[in-house]
Amino acid sequence: MGIAQLDEVNQRIKEAALRFGPLSEDAPAPKLIAVSKTFDADQIDPILSAGQKHFGENRVQEAQGKWPTLKEKYDGIVLHLIGPLQTNKVKDAVALFDVIHSVDREKLAKALAKEFTASGRKLPVFVQVNIGEEPQKAGIAPSETVEFVKTCQNTYGLDVRGLMCIPPAGAPAAPYFAQLAELAKGADLHELSMGMSADFDTAVEMGATYVRVGSAIFGHRDYSAH
Ligand SMILES: *Cc1c(COP(=O)(O)O)cnc(C)c1O
Repeated sequence: MGIAQLDEVNQRIKEAALRFGPLSEDAPAPKLIAVSKTFDADQIDPILSAGQKHFGENRVQEAQGKWPTLKEKYDGIVLHLIGPLQTNKVKDAVALFDVIHSVDREKLAKALAKEFTASGRKLPVFVQVNIGEEPQKAGIAPSETVEFVKTCQNTYGLDVRGLMCIPPAGAPAAPYFAQLAELAKGADLHELSMGMSADFDTAVEMGATYVRVGSAIFGHRDYSAH
């Protein structure tokens, strides 16, 4: 797995983007976040060599083990935190990551705001929406999303760029992607972080501006090794 898969994913994103609408300065091609969780620096390095800039990790501690070295070796890396963030990890996360996709509660918004001020490093963020209203999943309920975005902006001064979701497994994702797009419109946000290996073409057809793709690039994940 590697370069050929990366090229194929990029090609599919381009084709799906044209099905969504013509590309323009206002509507640039969606960005691919290569999700490298569970893969080590040796496996990530060739993808960096191929020019890929955006990467996603879902755990702060795991990312700390590989990304400082890779960020020193390659210019222009944009590292996205796509997994849940505990408030006691906020300081480490802000120091290492460049974008946070998982703002899902007021306590976290507050902790991030405090750390952005303390560190002088203000990161763009996404609000995570529990689009399928699944009890086991993180995220703001769809009905509370617009209000929560306003709280993040007005009370905590966060630079909210868009919404992020992980639709329920085993159901067609399209209606959920459409709903996230509607919510973003209602909150006057322009970025949509949606679509994974199984459904990124659909997400792009529905207006995703960031897709988060892991296994289609890096191959099957072996959690037992970590
Ligand atoms: C792991 C993960 C992905 C990538 O999943 P794949 O199915 O391997 O593409 C995307 N988003 C989040 C939040 C993830 O945790």
